[in-house]
Amino acid sequence: MSRLVDISGVVFGGEFVVIAGPCSVESEEQIDEIAKAVKLSGAQMLRGGVFKPRTSPYSFQGLGEPGLRFLRNAGNKYGLPIVTELLDPRDFELVARFTDMVQIGSRNMQNHPLLEQIGRSKIPILLKRGMNSTVEEWLNSARFVESFGNENIVLCERGIRTFETSTRNTLDLSSIPVAKGLSDYPVITDPSHGTGVAGLVAPLSIASKAVGADGIMIEVHSNPENALSDGAQALKTEELGRLVVQVNNLSAYQYPARCS
Ligand code: PEP
Ligand code: MN
Repeated sequence: MSRLVDISGVVFGGEFVVIAGPCSVESEEQIDEIAKAVKLSGAQMLRGGVFKPRTSPYSFQGLGEPGLRFLRNAGNKYGLPIVTELLDPRDFELVARFTDMVQIGSRNMQNHPLLEQIGRSKIPILLKRGMNSTVEEWLNSARFVESFGNENIVLCERGIRTFETSTRNTLDLSSIPVAKGLSDYPVITDPSHGTGVAGLVAPLSIASKAVGADGIMIEVHSNPENALSDGAQALKTEELGRLVVQVNNLSAYQYPARCS
């Protein structure tokens, strides 16, 4: 049995949770339009990055604080709890004031000052797996957060680096039963970053539920061709609606008490 992590009434470990939203918050209008589609799709939470860790220093770096306000307003307007990434411990107070759940990205899974700060608070954390990290290292980062008193932890498998080049990362579906066998943290997947290819997001979402994931996080955009980040992996809003219906019609793998 997973522990339950409650984000304003959305319960990880108790229901299959779909988080959806753009890679980046780009403008007030953009996040409003996408949040409306996310709500209509039946997804339960809204995502959106405002501090963007980018491979190139010349790429869009995010809107920062105004973006946080736009995301919060859209979440309130459509009744969707929000999750956004924290990159820098100096932004913790600001981000914690606006968001319901703090995402720690793949590049920061072992950023201990950042993890300690979240650990000393009670704010729920979505801890992504480092792209070069083992499941044990990932679990140790979660345990590190918990050692400071914060038990509100959800893990997110987002793909690891392998020799394969047909996908952006290799979504390691085995890590779900492995992590669930070794811990009681809810585990979700991110098939968007896990594959980098919009056409692969639906099948890997289905596979995630079938293997027992507690939810998925999906990047969606009303105009993927013109997205400021990660357009190639973004679903169109109508594709998200179809995916949520498909995923909700599928029964999940039921774990025995422990499977390690
Ligand atoms: C994201 O979810 O916006 C993101 C940057 O993901 P990751 O940390 O997995 O690369
Ligand atoms: Mn992205």
